Amino acid sequence: MINPVFHSDSEEPLVLIVDDCPASHRLFRASVAGDALRVEGATSGKDGMIKAEVFQPDLVLLDLNMPGVDGFDMLRLLKNNANTRDIPVLVVSGASRPQEKVRVFDLGAVDFVVKPFELSELRARIHVALRTQGLLRMLAQRAQIDGLTGLFNRSYFDQRWREEHQRAIRSGQPLSLAFVDLDKFKEINDTFGHSAGDEVLTGVATMIQKTLRVGDIPCRFGGEEFVIILPDTAPKHAALLCERIRSQCEHMVWARHTDRNVTLSIGVTGTESPGPHASEKWIEEADRNLYRAKSEGRNRVKTSDLGRGGIKAAS
Ligand code: GH3
Ligand code: MG
Ligand code: MG
Repeated sequence: MINPVFHSDSEEPLVLIVDDCPASHRLFRASVAGDALRVEGATSGKDGMIKAEVFQPDLVLLDLNMPGVDGFDMLRLLKNNANTRDIPVLVVSGASRPQEKVRVFDLGAVDFVVKPFELSELRARIHVALRTQGLLRMLAQRAQIDGLTGLFNRSYFDQRWREEHQRAIRSGQPLSLAFVDLDKFKEINDTFGHSAGDEVLTGVATMIQKTLRVGDIPCRFGGEEFVIILPDTAPKHAALLCERIRSQCEHMVWARHTDRNVTLSIGVTGTESPGPHASEKWIEEADRNLYRAKSEGRNRVKTSDLGRGGIKAAS
Protein backbone atom coordinates (compact mmCIF):
# COMPACT_ATOMS: atom_id res chain seq x y z
CA MET A 1 0.00 0.00 0.00
CA ILE A 2 1.14 3.56 -0.63
CA ASN A 3 1.70 5.55 2.56
CA PRO A 4 -0.14 8.88 2.43
CA VAL A 5 1.82 12.05 3.21
CA PHE A 6 -0.31 13.85 5.78
CA HIS A 7 -0.09 17.62 5.87
CA SER A 8 -0.96 19.72 8.90
CA ASP A 9 -4.14 21.80 8.98
CA SER A 10 -2.08 24.99 9.14
CA GLU A 11 -0.59 24.37 5.69
CA GLU A 12 -2.10 25.99 2.61
CA PRO A 13 -4.76 23.80 0.95
CA LEU A 14 -3.47 21.54 -1.82
CA VAL A 15 -5.23 21.27 -5.19
CA LEU A 16 -4.40 18.36 -7.50
CA ILE A 17 -4.99 18.98 -11.22
CA VAL A 18 -5.57 15.83 -13.30
CA ASP A 19 -5.72 16.59 -17.02
CA ASP A 20 -3.86 15.16 -20.04
CA CYS A 21 -3.64 18.57 -21.70
CA PRO A 22 -0.70 20.80 -20.58
CA ALA A 23 -2.55 23.95 -21.70
CA SER A 24 -5.37 23.14 -19.22
CA HIS A 25 -2.81 22.87 -16.43
CA ARG A 26 -1.57 26.35 -17.30
CA LEU A 27 -5.12 27.74 -17.27
CA PHE A 28 -6.02 26.05 -13.97
CA ARG A 29 -2.86 27.38 -12.35
CA ALA A 30 -3.53 30.86 -13.76
CA SER A 31 -7.02 30.88 -12.24
CA VAL A 32 -5.63 30.50 -8.71
CA ALA A 33 -2.33 32.36 -9.18
CA GLY A 34 -1.70 34.60 -6.19
CA ASP A 35 -4.10 32.61 -3.94
CA ALA A 36 -2.80 30.92 -0.81
CA LEU A 37 -2.92 27.46 -2.39
CA ARG A 38 -0.46 24.76 -3.33
CA VAL A 39 -0.92 23.03 -6.68
CA GLU A 40 0.21 19.57 -7.85
CA GLY A 41 -0.34 18.17 -11.34
CA ALA A 42 -0.92 14.78 -12.98
CA THR A 43 -1.37 14.14 -16.71
CA SER A 44 -3.18 10.79 -16.55
CA GLY A 45 -5.84 9.13 -14.44
CA LYS A 46 -3.32 6.52 -13.30
CA ASP A 47 -0.78 9.12 -12.15
CA GLY A 48 -3.65 11.15 -10.63
CA MET A 49 -4.73 8.19 -8.48
CA ILE A 50 -1.19 7.67 -7.16
CA LYS A 51 -0.75 11.37 -6.38
CA ALA A 52 -4.19 11.63 -4.74
CA GLU A 53 -3.29 8.78 -2.41
CA VAL A 54 0.20 10.06 -1.59
CA PHE A 55 -0.45 13.82 -1.34
CA GLN A 56 -3.97 13.67 0.14
CA PRO A 57 -5.06 16.91 -1.65
CA ASP A 58 -7.91 19.04 -0.34
CA LEU A 59 -9.45 19.16 -3.83
CA VAL A 60 -9.02 17.33 -7.15
CA LEU A 61 -9.70 19.18 -10.43
CA LEU A 62 -10.51 16.39 -12.83
CA ASP A 63 -10.75 16.26 -16.63
CA LEU A 64 -13.12 13.59 -18.02
CA ASN A 65 -11.66 12.91 -21.43
CA MET A 66 -8.25 11.27 -20.95
CA PRO A 67 -6.65 8.22 -22.62
CA GLY A 68 -6.37 5.07 -20.46
CA VAL A 69 -7.95 5.65 -17.04
CA ASP A 70 -10.37 8.47 -17.91
CA GLY A 71 -12.09 10.91 -15.54
CA PHE A 72 -15.10 8.63 -14.93
CA ASP A 73 -12.78 5.71 -14.09
CA MET A 74 -10.66 7.86 -11.81
CA LEU A 75 -13.70 9.24 -10.00
CA ARG A 76 -14.91 5.67 -9.40
CA LEU A 77 -11.44 4.62 -8.15
CA LEU A 78 -11.19 7.65 -5.83
CA LYS A 79 -14.60 6.97 -4.29
CA ASN A 80 -13.96 3.24 -3.87
CA ASN A 81 -10.68 3.78 -1.99
CA ALA A 82 -10.96 4.46 1.76
CA ASN A 83 -7.80 6.65 1.58
CA THR A 84 -9.21 9.00 -1.08
CA ARG A 85 -13.00 8.69 -0.67
CA ASP A 86 -13.39 11.98 1.22
CA ILE A 87 -11.37 14.14 -1.18
CA PRO A 88 -13.80 16.44 -3.06
CA VAL A 89 -13.64 16.31 -6.84
CA LEU A 90 -14.47 19.22 -9.11
CA VAL A 91 -14.91 18.01 -12.70
CA VAL A 92 -13.79 20.39 -15.43
CA SER A 93 -14.81 19.08 -18.84
CA GLY A 94 -15.78 19.97 -22.38
CA ALA A 95 -18.57 17.39 -22.08
CA SER A 96 -21.59 19.49 -21.28
CA ARG A 97 -24.61 17.24 -21.86
CA PRO A 98 -26.90 16.86 -18.85
CA GLN A 99 -26.50 13.04 -18.86
CA GLU A 100 -22.73 13.40 -18.38
CA LYS A 101 -23.16 15.92 -15.59
CA VAL A 102 -25.67 13.69 -13.81
CA ARG A 103 -23.35 10.68 -14.15
CA VAL A 104 -20.47 12.65 -12.67
CA PHE A 105 -22.58 13.79 -9.70
CA ASP A 106 -23.85 10.22 -9.21
CA LEU A 107 -20.24 9.08 -9.01
CA GLY A 108 -19.61 11.56 -6.18
CA ALA A 109 -18.22 14.76 -7.74
CA VAL A 110 -19.04 17.97 -5.81
CA ASP A 111 -19.16 20.34 -8.79
CA PHE A 112 -18.91 20.55 -12.57
CA VAL A 113 -17.40 23.37 -14.65
CA VAL A 114 -17.78 23.32 -18.44
CA LYS A 115 -14.77 24.07 -20.66
CA PRO A 116 -14.09 26.69 -21.89
CA PHE A 117 -14.55 28.48 -18.59
CA GLU A 118 -14.01 31.94 -17.15
CA LEU A 119 -10.93 31.93 -14.92
CA SER A 120 -12.79 33.93 -12.27
CA GLU A 121 -15.69 31.43 -12.19
CA LEU A 122 -13.37 28.44 -11.83
CA ARG A 123 -11.48 30.24 -9.07
CA ALA A 124 -14.74 31.00 -7.22
CA ARG A 125 -15.87 27.37 -7.47
CA ILE A 126 -12.49 26.08 -6.27
CA HIS A 127 -12.75 28.29 -3.18
CA VAL A 128 -16.34 27.22 -2.44
CA ALA A 129 -15.32 23.53 -2.67
CA LEU A 130 -12.31 24.14 -0.36
CA ARG A 131 -14.41 26.05 2.16
CA THR A 132 -17.03 23.28 2.30
CA GLN A 133 -14.28 20.67 2.68
CA GLY A 134 -12.71 22.68 5.56
CA LEU A 135 -16.08 22.85 7.35
CA LEU A 136 -16.74 19.12 6.90
CA ARG A 137 -13.29 18.31 8.28
CA MET A 138 -13.85 20.58 11.28
CA LEU A 139 -17.22 18.91 12.03
CA ALA A 140 -15.67 15.45 11.72
CA GLN A 141 -12.91 16.44 14.17
CA ARG A 142 -15.37 17.95 16.65
CA ALA A 143 -17.46 14.78 16.61
CA GLN A 144 -14.41 12.92 17.94
CA ILE A 145 -13.46 15.35 20.70
CA ASP A 146 -14.78 15.56 24.25
CA GLY A 147 -16.11 19.10 24.79
CA LEU A 148 -14.84 19.55 28.36
CA THR A 149 -11.33 18.11 28.30
CA GLY A 150 -10.35 18.33 24.62
CA LEU A 151 -9.32 14.65 24.65
CA PHE A 152 -10.75 12.13 22.20
CA ASN A 153 -14.24 10.98 23.22
CA ARG A 154 -15.70 7.55 23.90
CA SER A 155 -16.94 6.86 20.38
CA TYR A 156 -13.51 7.70 18.96
CA PHE A 157 -11.93 5.37 21.52
CA ASP A 158 -14.26 2.49 20.58
CA GLN A 159 -13.30 2.71 16.93
CA ARG A 160 -9.59 3.47 17.45
CA TRP A 161 -9.14 0.71 20.01
CA ARG A 162 -10.46 -1.91 17.56
CA GLU A 163 -8.07 -0.57 14.89
CA GLU A 164 -5.00 -0.50 17.16
CA HIS A 165 -5.82 -3.97 18.49
CA GLN A 166 -6.03 -5.37 14.93
CA ARG A 167 -2.87 -3.52 13.89
CA ALA A 168 -0.91 -4.96 16.83
CA ILE A 169 -2.07 -8.51 16.03
CA ARG A 170 -1.01 -8.08 12.40
CA SER A 171 2.37 -6.48 13.15
CA GLY A 172 3.21 -8.43 16.32
CA GLN A 173 4.19 -5.14 17.99
CA PRO A 174 3.58 -4.58 21.73
CA LEU A 175 0.37 -2.85 22.82
CA SER A 176 -0.96 -1.67 26.19
CA LEU A 177 -4.17 -0.16 27.50
CA ALA A 178 -4.67 1.88 30.70
CA PHE A 179 -7.84 2.89 32.54
CA VAL A 180 -7.42 5.96 34.75
CA ASP A 181 -10.08 6.86 37.33
CA LEU A 182 -10.10 9.83 39.71
CA ASP A 183 -10.28 8.80 43.36
CA LYS A 184 -13.21 9.99 45.49
CA PHE A 185 -14.04 12.53 42.84
CA LYS A 186 -17.63 12.85 43.98
CA GLU A 187 -16.28 14.47 47.15
CA ILE A 188 -14.66 17.25 45.08
CA ASN A 189 -18.00 18.03 43.42
CA ASP A 190 -19.91 17.79 46.70
CA THR A 191 -17.44 19.90 48.70
CA PHE A 192 -16.19 22.51 46.23
CA GLY A 193 -18.88 22.53 43.55
CA HIS A 194 -19.33 21.07 40.10
CA SER A 195 -17.22 23.74 38.38
CA ALA A 196 -14.26 22.93 40.66
CA GLY A 197 -14.80 19.31 39.61
CA ASP A 198 -14.74 20.35 35.95
CA GLU A 199 -11.45 22.18 36.53
CA VAL A 200 -9.96 19.02 38.00
CA LEU A 201 -11.08 16.93 35.01
CA THR A 202 -9.59 19.46 32.58
CA GLY A 203 -6.36 19.81 34.60
CA VAL A 204 -5.83 16.06 34.86
CA ALA A 205 -6.57 15.62 31.13
CA THR A 206 -3.99 18.28 30.24
CA MET A 207 -1.38 16.72 32.53
CA ILE A 208 -1.99 13.27 30.99
CA GLN A 209 -1.66 14.68 27.49
CA LYS A 210 1.62 16.46 28.34
CA THR A 211 3.09 13.36 29.95
CA LEU A 212 2.33 11.00 27.06
CA ARG A 213 4.41 10.57 23.92
CA VAL A 214 3.26 11.58 20.44
CA GLY A 215 1.84 8.17 19.37
CA ASP A 216 -0.13 7.56 22.59
CA ILE A 217 -3.90 8.07 22.43
CA PRO A 218 -5.61 9.53 25.53
CA CYS A 219 -9.43 9.54 25.57
CA ARG A 220 -12.18 10.44 28.02
CA PHE A 221 -14.01 7.16 28.57
CA GLY A 222 -16.85 8.85 30.44
CA GLY A 223 -17.50 10.75 33.69
CA GLU A 224 -14.23 10.90 35.66
CA GLU A 225 -12.59 8.02 33.85
CA PHE A 226 -9.94 8.22 31.13
CA VAL A 227 -8.53 5.50 28.90
CA ILE A 228 -5.14 5.56 27.19
CA ILE A 229 -4.16 3.41 24.19
CA LEU A 230 -0.38 2.87 24.17
CA PRO A 231 0.75 1.46 20.80
CA ASP A 232 4.24 -0.10 20.62
CA THR A 233 4.39 -0.17 24.41
CA ALA A 234 4.96 -3.28 26.54
CA PRO A 235 2.94 -3.44 29.79
CA LYS A 236 6.01 -2.92 31.99
CA HIS A 237 6.77 0.35 30.18
CA ALA A 238 3.09 1.33 30.26
CA ALA A 239 3.14 0.75 34.03
CA LEU A 240 6.15 3.10 34.43
CA LEU A 241 4.43 5.78 32.35
CA CYS A 242 1.21 5.43 34.36
CA GLU A 243 3.18 5.59 37.58
CA ARG A 244 4.57 8.94 36.41
CA ILE A 245 1.02 10.16 35.64
CA ARG A 246 -0.19 8.97 39.06
CA SER A 247 2.68 10.68 40.87
CA GLN A 248 2.31 13.98 38.97
CA CYS A 249 -1.41 14.10 39.74
CA GLU A 250 -0.80 13.58 43.45
CA HIS A 251 1.51 16.62 43.49
CA MET A 252 -0.70 18.99 41.51
CA VAL A 253 -1.93 22.01 43.47
CA TRP A 254 -5.49 23.17 42.78
CA ALA A 255 -6.36 26.87 43.05
CA ARG A 256 -9.92 26.19 44.30
CA HIS A 257 -8.89 23.68 46.98
CA THR A 258 -5.20 24.04 47.83
CA ASP A 259 -5.47 21.65 50.80
CA ARG A 260 -7.27 18.89 48.90
CA ASN A 261 -5.11 17.08 46.39
CA VAL A 262 -6.47 14.70 43.75
CA THR A 263 -5.26 11.16 43.22
CA LEU A 264 -5.69 8.57 40.50
CA SER A 265 -6.16 4.81 40.40
CA ILE A 266 -4.90 3.18 37.22
CA GLY A 267 -5.44 -0.31 35.74
CA VAL A 268 -3.02 -1.37 33.00
CA THR A 269 -2.85 -4.41 30.77
CA GLY A 270 -0.92 -5.29 27.64
CA THR A 271 1.52 -7.62 25.98
CA GLU A 272 4.81 -7.61 24.08
CA SER A 273 3.34 -9.91 21.41
CA PRO A 274 -0.42 -9.67 20.91
CA GLY A 275 -2.11 -13.07 20.73
CA PRO A 276 -5.68 -14.24 20.36
CA HIS A 277 -7.33 -12.10 23.09
CA ALA A 278 -10.46 -10.35 21.81
CA SER A 279 -10.32 -6.56 22.06
CA GLU A 280 -13.11 -6.58 24.71
CA LYS A 281 -11.02 -8.91 26.91
CA TRP A 282 -8.32 -6.25 27.18
CA ILE A 283 -10.89 -3.73 28.38
CA GLU A 284 -12.23 -6.18 30.96
CA GLU A 285 -8.70 -6.98 32.15
CA ALA A 286 -7.60 -3.32 32.45
CA ASP A 287 -10.86 -2.58 34.27
CA ARG A 288 -10.22 -5.50 36.65
CA ASN A 289 -6.79 -4.03 37.45
CA LEU A 290 -8.39 -0.65 38.06
CA TYR A 291 -10.80 -2.28 40.49
CA ARG A 292 -7.82 -3.91 42.26
CA ALA A 293 -6.12 -0.50 42.54
CA LYS A 294 -9.30 0.90 44.13
CA SER A 295 -9.84 -1.99 46.53
CA GLU A 296 -6.19 -2.01 47.66
CA GLY A 297 -6.44 1.61 48.80
CA ARG A 298 -6.53 3.83 45.65
CA ASN A 299 -3.73 6.17 44.40
CA ARG A 300 -1.86 3.26 42.79
CA VAL A 301 -1.18 1.50 39.48
CA LYS A 302 -2.01 -2.20 38.97
CA THR A 303 -0.74 -4.01 35.90
CA SER A 304 -1.09 -7.42 34.26
CA ASP A 305 0.71 -8.92 31.29
CA LEU A 306 -1.61 -10.70 28.83
CA GLY A 307 1.30 -12.71 27.42
CA ARG A 308 0.42 -14.58 24.23
CA GLY A 309 -2.05 -17.06 25.65
CA GLY A 310 -2.95 -16.61 29.32
CA ILE A 311 -2.39 -13.70 31.66
CA LYS A 312 1.19 -14.01 32.91
CA ALA A 313 2.03 -11.72 35.76
CA ALA A 314 0.27 -9.12 37.80
CA SER A 315 1.80 -6.38 39.94
P1 GH3 B 1 -13.96 6.16 43.38
O1 GH3 B 1 -12.70 6.53 44.08
O2 GH3 B 1 -14.50 4.86 43.85
O3 GH3 B 1 -13.81 6.20 41.89
O4 GH3 B 1 -15.04 7.25 43.79
P2 GH3 B 1 -15.64 8.45 42.93
O5 GH3 B 1 -16.32 9.40 43.85
O6 GH3 B 1 -14.56 9.03 42.06
O7 GH3 B 1 -16.64 7.68 41.99
P3 GH3 B 1 -18.20 7.82 41.76
O8 GH3 B 1 -18.48 6.96 40.56
O9 GH3 B 1 -18.96 7.54 43.02
O10 GH3 B 1 -18.43 9.32 41.39
C1 GH3 B 1 -18.01 9.87 40.19
C2 GH3 B 1 -18.48 11.29 40.14
O11 GH3 B 1 -18.00 11.95 38.96
C3 GH3 B 1 -19.96 11.42 40.14
C4 GH3 B 1 -20.26 12.38 38.99
O12 GH3 B 1 -21.16 13.38 39.38
C5 GH3 B 1 -18.91 12.99 38.69
N1 GH3 B 1 -18.80 13.42 37.31
C6 GH3 B 1 -18.94 12.68 36.17
N2 GH3 B 1 -18.77 13.47 35.09
C7 GH3 B 1 -18.52 14.72 35.52
C8 GH3 B 1 -18.25 15.97 34.86
O13 GH3 B 1 -18.22 16.09 33.64
N3 GH3 B 1 -18.01 17.06 35.66
C9 GH3 B 1 -18.02 16.96 37.01
N4 GH3 B 1 -17.76 18.05 37.73
N5 GH3 B 1 -18.28 15.81 37.66
C10 GH3 B 1 -18.52 14.70 36.92
MG1 MG C 1 -13.68 7.75 40.58
MG1 MG D 1 -15.56 6.12 37.95
